Amino acid sequence: MLLQGREVAIVGGGPGGLTLARLLQMKGVRVKVYERDFNETARVQGATLDLHYESGLKAIKAAGLMDVLRRLTGRERIRGL
Ligand SMILES: Cc1cc2nc3c(=O)[nH]c(=O)nc-3n(C[C@H](O)[C@H](O)[C@H](O)COP(=O)(O)OP(=O)(O)OC[C@H]3O[C@@H](n4cnc5c(N)ncnc54)[C@H](O)[C@@H]3O)c2cc1C
Repeated sequence: MLLQGREVAIVGGGPGGLTLARLLQMKGVRVKVYERDFNETARVQGATLDLHYESGLKAIKAAGLMDVLRRLTGRERIRGL
């Protein structure tokens, strides 16, 4: 793969940046995520993320995080999957 043995910098530790980091790590790429917010209380966050099957949930599944999502949401069954 083109990125094999390289280090990738990702600017932004939001859902997009963190999911990309996870997907790259699964391919053996070294990743560093740079986030400007000091912690999750640095600014007001939105409400619960809407995750749709064709986009957000698809990415979560590809990243191997369905079990984590089930654990965090307390839902054994997730609609669409
Ligand atoms: C007010 C508001 C309410 C919302 N409510 C909902 C909701 O209820 N449900 C829902 O599903 N979606 C909601 N959304 C949409 C949701 O926030 C986005 O879909 C989602 O956050 C996009 O993820 P992202 O990773 O692309 O970007 P972001 O979540 O914006 O993440 C980008 C990250 O990059 C960091 N960053 C930016 N520039 C730099 C830099 N130069 N250096 C270091 N770090 C940097 C930012 O601090 C941020 O953490 C809301 C959005 C807003 C603005």
